[in-house]
Amino acid sequence: MKFLFSVIILTLVHSCTQKYQPIKTSPMENTEAKNNPYYSRTDTAQLNISNEEWKKILAPDLYAIAREAATERAFTGKYNEFDEVGDYYCAVCGNHLFRSTSKFASSCGWPSFFEADKEGVYYKRDTTYGMERVEVLCKRCDSHLGHVFDDGPKPTGLRYCMNSISLEFVADTQK
Ligand SMILES: [Zn+2]
Repeated sequence: MKFLFSVIILTLVHSCTQKYQPIKTSPMENTEAKNNPYYSRTDTAQLNISNEEWKKILAPDLYAIAREAATERAFTGKYNEFDEVGDYYCAVCGNHLFRSTSKFASSCGWPSFFEADKEGVYYKRDTTYGMERVEVLCKRCDSHLGHVFDDGPKPTGLRYCMNSISLEFVADTQK
């Protein structure tokens, strides 16, 4: 009986530890790329990796957004209020997506850009949740990044509304 009790306690402790997600303290550190053999900022070859495989590699929050098109909560992303000079890459595969010069202060609660790297993204019509939207995806790895709307500033009039989790920023000073 005592033994059984200990097993139950241990199981409880174990499941709590499993759920614990360490807080990312440094937005500069590429935490997603460490155990990701597909991540490259120079290789532009198309990837065709199954979600089953990505699930083993990506952090759960990144997997949910990039591979299952979830959306991070507004005003919570690390790049929402962030204006350093550099480039934004796909957090899943390292593909170049945005330059900081196209980022603008938007009140929507997610990092917003008026222009994307044409070689970095592609678009898909998205009619989920009863809305008519345009989904933005990574050209190299097909991951979901966010949506693009036509209420952005000049010169393009576009607003790329992105999930911070899907992005990895590298400052010019780090290159
Ligand atoms: Zn990608």
